[in-house]
Amino acid sequence: MTCRDVSRRASTYLDEDLSLRERLALKAHLFICVNCRRYVAQLAATLNLVRDRQWAGVDEEAEDRLAAMFRQSGKSDGGSGFTCT
Ligand SMILES: [Zn+2]
Repeated sequence: MTCRDVSRRASTYLDEDLSLRERLALKAHLFICVNCRRYVAQLAATLNLVRDRQWAGVDEEAEDRLAAMFRQSGKSDGGSGFTCT
């Protein structure tokens, strides 16, 4: 599994909809690849925020904070966002 495969499957993985074989391959990749670990963790945080929003009815201000969070994390990574090794 490559970084590209991980980025394509990450949301399915977080929904626990991947086949066992794909899930194991993805986990094996996360074990060796810090970039994908970071990517999946960030996606998981985003999905949690989206779910919280669905349950609690979060307002536009939270959306702005989320956008700001992504801008900041892009900066701290060197500005190029998600990169493959
Ligand atoms: Zn990777």
